[in-house]
Amino acid sequence: MNVRLLGLGEIPPALAEAVLAALPRPFAGGEVASLPASFEHCYDRTRAQVDAACLIEHVPGPEPGWSNLALTGADLFMPALTYVFGISHLGGRRGIVSWFRLHPEAEDAATQMRFLRRITTEAVHELGHGLGLVHCVVPDCAMHRSLWPEGVDLKRPEYCPACLTSLEERCR
Ligand SMILES: [Zn+2]
Ligand SMILES: [Zn+2]
Repeated sequence: MNVRLLGLGEIPPALAEAVLAALPRPFAGGEVASLPASFEHCYDRTRAQVDAACLIEHVPGPEPGWSNLALTGADLFMPALTYVFGISHLGGRRGIVSWFRLHPEAEDAATQMRFLRRITTEAVHELGHGLGLVHCVVPDCAMHRSLWPEGVDLKRPEYCPACLTSLEERCR
């Protein structure tokens, strides 16, 4: 399965390349591109946030053998939730991950590494949903649900054996 990481809006230099390089099995490379979509109409002025369900409609559906994942710094929400780290069309091989809420509080030497690990973990999570995986009860599996940035640190940026087996069957 190839992954196309699509920068949506301004994106830190080399971030998408670093995430792509860190993706685990069953992903095997891919490419980085940008998504020239304007998403002002997805912006909710009252909440000062971007509606995730509106934004995902701008992510194109991929060709066979590919998953499309947009990377954005927009602060995403869904109606019942204060914020979300990402959104996917279950089984549709397209989704979005946002780093807005993932930046660590402390500015120390390990911050950049933890930040990259969080984005990668949530990218792996959304890619899993895009391939049809639901949430997983294994605490350190990337498919475990995280509601807080610190919760993302408890996961690994890869799938547990059961999720990986399920994914590999779906990728066949
Ligand atoms: Zn999820
Ligand atoms: Zn799992």
